[in-house]
Amino acid sequence: FPVEQRGPAGRQPVTITMAPPSAALTTTLGYPCMGGRRELKTALEAHWRGDLPAEGLTAVLDEVEAANVAAAAAAGVSLVGVGDATLWGPFADTTTRLGLEAPRHRALPAGLDRYFAAARGVPGVAALDMSKWLNTNFHVLVPEIGGEGGATLPPPADAPGWADLVARVRTAQSAIGASRVVPVLLGPVTYAAGCALSGGVTVASLVEAITPSYVAALRALDAAGVPEVQLHEPALVTSDGPALRPVYEAAFAALAKAELPIHLVTYFDDLGDAFPWAVRLPGVSAVGLDFTRGDNLGLLRTHGWPAGVRLGAGVVDGRSVWAEETESAALLDAVRATAGAGVVVCVQPSCSLAHVPLNLEAETALPPAVKARLAFAKQKLDLLVRVAGDAVGDTTSAASTATPGAAVVDASAAITSAIDKALFERAEPFEERRPKQFSVPGGLGTMSIGSFPQTPAIRRLRALFKAGKLPADEYTAAMDAATVECVRLQKETIGLDVLVHGELERTDMVEFFADKMNGVAVTKAGWVRSVGSLCVRPPIIHDDLSRRQVPMTVREWAVAQAAAGDTPVKGMLTGPTTILNWSFPRKDLSREAQAMQLAAVVRGEVADLEAAGARIIQVDEPALREGLPLKRSAWAADVEWAVRAFRLSTTVAAPSTQIVTHFCYSDFSDPDVLAAMNALDADVLTVENTRSGGEAFRALAAAGYSRDLAPGVFDIHSEVVPKEAEVAERVQAFLAKGLEPTRLWVVPDCGQKTASPDLCTSSLKAMVEAAGAARSAS
Ligand code: GLN
Ligand code: ZN
Repeated sequence: FPVEQRGPAGRQPVTITMAPPSAALTTTLGYPCMGGRRELKTALEAHWRGDLPAEGLTAVLDEVEAANVAAAAAAGVSLVGVGDATLWGPFADTTTRLGLEAPRHRALPAGLDRYFAAARGVPGVAALDMSKWLNTNFHVLVPEIGGEGGATLPPPADAPGWADLVARVRTAQSAIGASRVVPVLLGPVTYAAGCALSGGVTVASLVEAITPSYVAALRALDAAGVPEVQLHEPALVTSDGPALRPVYEAAFAALAKAELPIHLVTYFDDLGDAFPWAVRLPGVSAVGLDFTRGDNLGLLRTHGWPAGVRLGAGVVDGRSVWAEETESAALLDAVRATAGAGVVVCVQPSCSLAHVPLNLEAETALPPAVKARLAFAKQKLDLLVRVAGDAVGDTTSAASTATPGAAVVDASAAITSAIDKALFERAEPFEERRPKQFSVPGGLGTMSIGSFPQTPAIRRLRALFKAGKLPADEYTAAMDAATVECVRLQKETIGLDVLVHGELERTDMVEFFADKMNGVAVTKAGWVRSVGSLCVRPPIIHDDLSRRQVPMTVREWAVAQAAAGDTPVKGMLTGPTTILNWSFPRKDLSREAQAMQLAAVVRGEVADLEAAGARIIQVDEPALREGLPLKRSAWAADVEWAVRAFRLSTTVAAPSTQIVTHFCYSDFSDPDVLAAMNALDADVLTVENTRSGGEAFRALAAAGYSRDLAPGVFDIHSEVVPKEAEVAERVQAFLAKGLEPTRLWVVPDCGQKTASPDLCTSSLKAMVEAAGAARSAS
C-alpha cells in the first residue's frame, strides 16, 4: 500500500510503496548510511572544507536515513531499526549525547565542531584514538574517560542527551507508523568497555555513571511511542563478556525501571559462557543472537531458552555478500526446532547490514554467474522477509537439513600434507642469509613504507583510463613518468637508502591485486564505510584464486629500478591474510584454505620480482591481527595459519633477497601475536610505532624480536612536519634499548598515500637527516 512519506524539511515529499509487515516477526539492526551515490561522503567532505554548513550536512544524513527506513518498510520488515545512521560512528554519537567529550574537545563550541574535533583533531588539539570495531574494518573512536586528559564523571548535567535520536525516531514514525520503528542504541556496557579509562575509572563505575542517561533515553523513546528499543551489546561475546556479569546485571536492573521492552542485541560470535545469564537480564524482552558465527545453536540446545523472552534469530549473515537463502532458511528451522514451540522467534540479520555494500543493482559488470549468488544490504532485506515467510508454519519447505557451515572444507590437513614442508622454510636461517642481503654501512638505513601521495592529477589519470577516456599507451606513459619523478624525488631530493616505485597505480592495496586475479571480483559501487568519509570496496572471492595477469607488479617495479640506478627499489606486495581480511571470502571453503591460495599467488609474484632483479621485497600484513576471533582462546589456530600463509608467500626468495614486512595500527601486546612476528621469519619488520606512543617497539623489544626492526619514527596522519630533533630522539631511544644500529631501520609509521606532497617530502627529509646524524654519532 502506497504511503506518502514526509521528506526532510524543504524537500519534495516522496511516495514510497510500503509492504504490510511480514507475517513472521522480522527486524533490522542497522543499514549502510553513505547513500546510494555516497552522498554522505560528499557532504562530509564539503563540510570539512567549509563548503557546507552543519544544517546541510545533517539534512543529508536525515535524507539517507529516510531512504533506509523506506527500503526496510517496502521490503516488509516488521520492526525497522532506526537511528544507526551516523556522521562518524556509534562511539562518537554516544559520547556527544552523554556529554563525555575529553576537556580538550569540550573547550570547542558545542555541535559539529566539537564532534569532528574529537574524531579528526584540529590544529593543536589531538583527536581521540581510533580502533577497529571488534573484528570489522570499521573504525570507531576510543573516548577518553578519567585521568588527566579524559572526561570527568559524572557526566555534565547539561549534556545534550538523546533529543536528536528521538527526533529521528519521530520522523521515521511519521513515514512508516509508530508501531514499526525501533531505535538502535549502542548499549552502555559495550560503550564503557570501548573507552580508554584512567584515573581510577572502571567499566563498572562508568556504566553506573551513564545508566541514568540511558534510563532517560528509554523514557523519552517510550513517550514517543516506540514498541521497544535495541541495545547493542556485542561486548557480551568477547573474552571479557563473562567477567562483565555484575556490571550487566546492575545496569539492566536500572534500565528495567524505564519499563520499555529491551531487545538486547549481540553479534559476531556466540555468547559463550555468558549465555545462561545474558539471556535472562532484567528488563530484556528479546535477545538477538548471531547464528552465523560461533555456536549459539549449541548453547541454545544446552541451556534452553527462558520463558517469555523473544529469541532474535540472526540467520541472515550480515557480514557476507552471499545470498545463502537456503542456508538461512535451514538455520532458522534448526533454531525453531531447538528453541521449541513455545518460543517467539524474530527473524533478523546476524548484525547490522552496514558491513555489506548497499545495493547489488548498481553492479553492472559482475560476472552474471557470480552476481546471481550475491545479495547486498537491499537484497538482504527481501531475503530476510522471504526466509521468515517461508518458515511460518511450514518447517518442511527448507528441506536442507545440512548444518550450515558443514560444507566448509577444512584445508589444514589437506593442504599442508599435500605440499612439501620445505615450501614453508627459507633456504637458510636468518643469521646465515642476512649478511648476503642489502645493508647500509653503519646501519640505520632509511626507507618509506611504500605509497607516495596520490595527487588529484594521479587520481584523474586513473579515473580517465578506467572510464576508457585515455588510451592505454598514454596512460602507461603518464604513470611511468610520475613513477620516475617519484624515484628521483626519493633519491635526489630526499636521499633515502632504499627506494619504492610509489604505488601510484594502486587505488587500494587489496583491490589492486584482486583486479589481477582469477576467482575474485571487484565491484563498481560495493562501498563499505571504513572510517569517517572513507569507504572501501572489498573484493569478492568466489572461486579458486590464481594470477590472471602474470606478473602483476614487475613492470612498474622495473620502471622505478631503471630510474634508480644502483639504489635498490623494493618490490611491494600485499600479504595473503590482509587480502583475505579486506575481502568478502567464500563460505564454501575455509578461510585458511583461501589464505593458502592467496599465498601461492603472492609466492609467484615474489619469484617474478626476484627474477627481474629485485633484491628487497616487502609483503604487507597490516590486517593480520584484526581478523582474529573475538574470543582470545581461539586465536592460536588462526595465527598459526596466517604465519604459514606468510611463509608460503615468501620462502621462495633466495637467501640474498631481503624480505620486509609491515604491520600497523594493531595491538601487539599479545604473546601469540608477538610470537607470530618472529615466526614470520621476515628479514625486516616495519611497524607503526609513533601514533601508538611507542607501544609496538616496547612490546617487540621485550619479547626479544630477533630480526632487523624498523619502528616508525613519525605519525603519517599528522599534518605537522616532524622536527629532526624529535626523530633523532626516537632513534636514540631504540639504540638505548641495546639494538645494534645495523639491525635498526628508520622508517615512517605507514604509507604516505594520503599526505600532501610537501608534507611527505619534508617529513622524509627530516627523517633522513636525523638518521644520518645518528649514524655518524654512533
Ligand atoms: N605499502 C602500503 C602503503 O604504503 C602499506 C599500507 C598499509 O599498511 N595499510 O600504502
Ligand atoms: Zn601501515
